Amino acid sequence: MLRKAFLVGYNGQSMAGILFIISAPSGSGKSTLVSELRQLVEGLEFSISYTTRAPRGSETDGREYHFISRERFEEMISDDAFLEWAEVFGNYYGTARSALHLAAEHHRDLLLDIDVQGAMQVMERMPAAISIFIMPPSPAVLETRLRNRSVAEHMTDEAVIARRLQQARSELASIQHYRFAIVNDVLDVAVSELRSVVLTARGEKDSGLIRMAECCETARQPERLARALHTFLNNLTPH
Ligand code: ADP
Ligand code: 5GP
Repeated sequence: MLRKAFLVGYNGQSMAGILFIISAPSGSGKSTLVSELRQLVEGLEFSISYTTRAPRGSETDGREYHFISRERFEEMISDDAFLEWAEVFGNYYGTARSALHLAAEHHRDLLLDIDVQGAMQVMERMPAAISIFIMPPSPAVLETRLRNRSVAEHMTDEAVIARRLQQARSELASIQHYRFAIVNDVLDVAVSELRSVVLTARGEKDSGLIRMAECCETARQPERLARALHTFLNNLTPH
């Protein structure tokens, strides 16, 4: 049964709200889902990560990410400015500790959209965090979404797509560490499931929502997840 997860101090930091961690292989639709969720649910602060990768498409500094140089990122590591950080696809990504302070100051829950390596660090440091893994429905769908997005952003690079598909394999293997797993097949269904998890963690009383959230618990869908994992491990083209 879920309960409201108030987080207490970590390294002198404290947070009054709930910390949600969302991870997914690139192209699964996590950004799409999170953006829909934020329109439906109030009081959710989104942590804007720091990254050394270049902006994509219409991305703007300070909106999707804080885009900084490797030198600046390394300075921030030395200054212990990050709650977590990781190197993903050759670039640094990190969550500033200040994101926790800001969310606490604003009395809001905080949502982290971070990779599996970063998620493991946060789960260890803040065990009350609610972790959610978003899965693509199949390797073929994941490839199509990666391709469509890169066409839309005028950045089609086969090597990048191949690397992301390959990376999806190792990330999916970590799914069992997450408390919730949501398959992003039909967008509206996945958005409703994500919303049910967030509202239930906040203490929602609606039994339909609670049931929906419970069905998304990783522990309750071992066979389904094992089947999906099997498809990915056997169908992604090795590079
Ligand atoms: P991520 O943030 O996980 O890398 P995006 O949110 O950028 O992924 O989505 C990748 C592509 O897939 C985008 O073109 C997006 O519009 C599309 N997409 C996301 N969710 C769905 C869905 N449920 N059905 C169809 N297309 C989707
Ligand atoms: P993208 O470059 O596609 O925006 O993101 C690539 C990956 O980096 C995604 O899995 C995304 O969740 C992850 N990511 C984004 N911000 C952070 C962060 O602050 N920390 C970590 N560890 N991963 C991040």
